Amino acid sequence: MLLAALAAELRALGAVDVVLDRYGYVTATVPSTSRRPHVPVIGFIAHVDTSPEMPGAGVRPLVHPRYDGRDLVLPDAPDAVLRFSEDAALGAQLGHHLVTASGATLLGADDKAGITAIMSAAEYLLTHPEISHGAVRIAFTPDEEIGRSADHFDVERFGAACAYTVDGGECGELEFESFSADAMEIAFHGFNTHPGYAKGRMVSAIRMAAAFIDAVSREMLTPDRSDGYDGYIHPHTLDASVERTTVKLLVRDFADGGLREKERAAERLAREIALREGGRVEIAVRAQYRNMREVLNRHPGVVEHAAEAIRRTGLEVRTRPIRGGTDGSRLSFMGLPTPNLFAGQHNIHSRLEWTSAEDMAASARTIVELCRVWEEKG
Ligand SMILES: [Zn+2]
Repeated sequence: MLLAALAAELRALGAVDVVLDRYGYVTATVPSTSRRPHVPVIGFIAHVDTSPEMPGAGVRPLVHPRYDGRDLVLPDAPDAVLRFSEDAALGAQLGHHLVTASGATLLGADDKAGITAIMSAAEYLLTHPEISHGAVRIAFTPDEEIGRSADHFDVERFGAACAYTVDGGECGELEFESFSADAMEIAFHGFNTHPGYAKGRMVSAIRMAAAFIDAVSREMLTPDRSDGYDGYIHPHTLDASVERTTVKLLVRDFADGGLREKERAAERLAREIALREGGRVEIAVRAQYRNMREVLNRHPGVVEHAAEAIRRTGLEVRTRPIRGGTDGSRLSFMGLPTPNLFAGQHNIHSRLEWTSAEDMAASARTIVELCRVWEEKG
């Protein structure tokens, strides 16, 4: 399997402390070449799993050399066509070696592109001992796409001062803010009776929930109407009966204050409706993850050095807020500050997924530069 193959390849390249643990994490070290004392250990992380929303087995990868902007019709599905006119990111790829799947599956560039970049950088560092860098830790993880790859991540044993997930898109991308996220469950309690003899007695929890969802959608920002730095509230699951109806909601914001504000507004709407209808309401809020920026603000070098490495690679730094969570959001709060670096992934979670050899090479060069920057400035 891939994780065992990666461990074997890392050993063959000359990495040390190569471990494949019982949870399926591969970790390894590229030893320091620096003569300076106290150079911080830094880490690079990529995930081997692919999105469960699309088939990711039996992939037939195709290389399209020297891409010239023509439509790429993928052979295993006639309607799977990568069109220059529909995909702005293709503009930067003319003359590049594009990689796609065959139209029936994911390519898996999310996050095999990150694995490729980290492996290439590790090979380069191990074969160029004249480059001064501190110890570099590597981790390849399972289960990222189901949000569980930080579950068994042993931050202490990893032993790095900070890390970078290499799990991003366009060249130069550097992501260091994510949503803060809570899950909310609102249970409306009504009163059920025989509907033929219900006059003045029945209280419908379904009607309360419907009024609540209607009010939330009118008065608050929902996912379909939010973008950039907006947060949102998202009623996503309903379990309905007259006696009891629960509404499950996702609450998202870049600031904790915004999160609480949305929760209070939702609570007020729910209580008003329950009072008006003669029912009762129960509300539970569960924390999911927090904006990694909170942690990264306390370690400004982690983001600054990455930006410096991107510029040294000859690229423009692109930052944007992640409208979701990443492994880094959890790892940062587990004590390992971890922003996200580009890997050259495009159209992820789609059968039109693609990457290019040149983007992955740029990612690998940025990793090598980042190791040098930390040696110089760390
Ligand atoms: Zn990913």
